[in-house]
Amino acid sequence: MNNTSRITIAHGDGIGPEIMEAVLHILDKAGAELEYDTIQIGEKVYASGSKTGISDESWSIIQKNGIFLKSPITTPQGGGFKSMNVTIRKTLGLFANVRPVQSYTPFVRSNFSKMDMVIIRENEEDLYAGIEHRQTQEVVQVLKLISRPGCERIIRYAFEYARAFGRKKVTCMTKDNIMKQADGLFHKVFNEIALGYPEIKTDHLIIDIGSAIVANRPSTLDVVVTLNLYGDIISDIAAEVAGSVGLGGSSNVGKKVAMYEAIHGSAPDIAGKDMANPSGLLNAAVMMLGQMGKTETADKIKNAWLRALEDGIHTGDVFKIGQSAERVGTKEFANAIVSRLGQKPETLLAAQTDGNQNILIKETRVPKELKLLEGVDIFLDWDEDQRNPDVLGNKLLGLAGDRFKLQMISNRGQKVFPNGFEETYCTDHWRCRFLKTVESISATDLIELQKSLISAGLDSIKTENLYSFDGIRGYSLGQGE
Ligand code: NAD
Repeated sequence: MNNTSRITIAHGDGIGPEIMEAVLHILDKAGAELEYDTIQIGEKVYASGSKTGISDESWSIIQKNGIFLKSPITTPQGGGFKSMNVTIRKTLGLFANVRPVQSYTPFVRSNFSKMDMVIIRENEEDLYAGIEHRQTQEVVQVLKLISRPGCERIIRYAFEYARAFGRKKVTCMTKDNIMKQADGLFHKVFNEIALGYPEIKTDHLIIDIGSAIVANRPSTLDVVVTLNLYGDIISDIAAEVAGSVGLGGSSNVGKKVAMYEAIHGSAPDIAGKDMANPSGLLNAAVMMLGQMGKTETADKIKNAWLRALEDGIHTGDVFKIGQSAERVGTKEFANAIVSRLGQKPETLLAAQTDGNQNILIKETRVPKELKLLEGVDIFLDWDEDQRNPDVLGNKLLGLAGDRFKLQMISNRGQKVFPNGFEETYCTDHWRCRFLKTVESISATDLIELQKSLISAGLDSIKTENLYSFDGIRGYSLGQGE
């Protein structure tokens, strides 16, 4: 039977080509039965004038093959270049970033001998939407966008992953004590979905203490599911704590396409010197084989790699005098793995994967809720009268008309009118909350209200409609409101 599969590969920049060659050599010798379409991405493509670092033809090849093994690339600084990684993840809908992090003590130094966690990070939403605006002389905003389908997909994926890999606990990390709507939605969806997986333990940690536990007690964590920014930060902490950034692989999974890569960058400081550790990309390739159903080959490679680590064959980043046996370069390390194919580790736990690890998640839809307009937040750029909130508040009370009341004014989220504190620092950016005083209001009423403010000489920089959904408030209160 012909089990050959065609995948897309990119050699990348810096150490990328060296580690890719090493990994392809190991895949070939292990009998992975893969064929490759090679695409150009990164520095050379940016240099040819592309702002994204990837050509249209390459997109088609990635879409056609569905599986993409990618070496790190160098993102040019400044000049309006977009991060190619963010572009790839969002364009191809790669919603789940999966980063297993393990320690390999006593063979690779780490303070934690039993660390074996998987961070599953939401990959498309949150602050990474990159929607930013400068609104006044003093204030810039960035929008944090969280969607219910986005939460559902990543959280369901985390539970399905735990099930497929026999993991016992899923920990959700958010900051919903502060961001009650956005992070609150993530936590709420987590609680709902957890009910469908009664055999898996669950808990929730506020991200600050969660990060501290990643740094200080990582062996108590199993699967962690979290939002984009928090996942970005804690996965680097975890990799560092485990021993070396050179060891970790990751997958970026979507419904039709998956991309596999090392967690580290292109390491230009050691490029072309045959010094790089190819383990990160190799572990990514092992994850790739597992999800393609080639679990036997995946285990064979992983076990030979573990055995090489145990035998003290180490690249410079993990080499330690008195602990390692031999300091080797990229090529020699790959050869050491090839010569151990078929062997298993003696101390470290051998890889043994059961069945197919292709994780499927089902999409669900919640019933339509009743959405009612309750009022509006009008944001003003106002820098008069020594920024005295009472002056602004009294002016707005006279402009609210008969369909709205001025509920409050806040500055950087803190209520300053009515009954503000004179100690509260005020910028030139004011959020003025108007709530309806009649049974129902329309978008036209909001426009009339805004017009009356503008006619009074106020600078309205943005509005945000306030809604309730099935009678539940869909907006946060101001601090002190
Ligand atoms: P980096 O991960 O490339 O390097 C950080 C440090 O770790 C360096 O000292 C490097 O020598 C070392 N290191 C990294 N990988 C190693 C390996 N396999 N073996 C041994 N040592 C290794 O991070 P950086 O220096 O911040 O970034 C360099 C470039 O990589 C930047 O242009 C950045 O934008 C890019 N980058 C790309 C990706 C990606 O393509 N997925 C990810 C992160 C950074």
